[in-house]
Amino acid sequence: MLIDTHCHLDSEYFPEGADETIARARSEGVTGFVCIGVGSPAQARCALDLAARRADVWATVGVHPHDAAQFDDAQEAELLGLAQQPRVVAIGEIGLDFHYDHSPRERQEEVFRRFIQIARQLKKPVVIHTRSAPEETLRILSEEKAADVGGLIHCFSENKAFAERALDLGFDLSFSGIVTFKRAVDIQEVAAWAPADRILVETDSPYLAPVPLRGKRCEPAHVVHTARFVAGLRGVSLEQIAEQTTQNATRRLGVSAVLN
Ligand SMILES: [Zn+2]
Ligand SMILES: [Zn+2]
Repeated sequence: MLIDTHCHLDSEYFPEGADETIARARSEGVTGFVCIGVGSPAQARCALDLAARRADVWATVGVHPHDAAQFDDAQEAELLGLAQQPRVVAIGEIGLDFHYDHSPRERQEEVFRRFIQIARQLKKPVVIHTRSAPEETLRILSEEKAADVGGLIHCFSENKAFAERALDLGFDLSFSGIVTFKRAVDIQEVAAWAPADRILVETDSPYLAPVPLRGKRCEPAHVVHTARFVAGLRGVSLEQIAEQTTQNATRRLGVSAVLN
């Protein structure tokens, strides 16, 4: 039993429909799905609709740093309404992406800060996206008192020094298919070392399929490969990693394995 704590199931990525994608994952033993509602308010609504009609899906609502430039007051009002729904278990993904710089950096920071405030107001954890902005991300998390709600660093791709500081701030570490890549030595070091009660696994589908499927469209069924790899790094069984990360997801996000 595994939970994919971060997947994008939008129809543009999975034209066959989310139910079919989920059925394939369920047949591999993946029994819970956190569907990320970013891109636009319409996409957030889709994630929430899916979560509302399926017991094994939960949603998040937020503004990806890539989309910060388009974010405006009308979007905020709509997203705030959605974020209050009980099936929305976290705010995100939010954060900084200074690698692609799809939105101006100052605007990314403003929107990031705004959504940490919203999360604190709603008392929901935050899902953090951070790329090429480690110091800025940690500084904002600290200045905005994100530790009040905690959350997770999704698609963890930093080093051990960053991991230690993120853990201190109340953030768990979620590993995606990237950890299986040959050159991801720093990430593997963190996945082997991190406290057992602070790790999660995810796909970030449709991107970043784990080895041996690297380069293919990634889907929630593939989280099994990532979990098996992390188990190998830690010298435990796949079953142990599945049980531990499922417990962690329950504690962090209030989601659980849904058997049928
Ligand atoms: Zn992300
Ligand atoms: Zn994502």
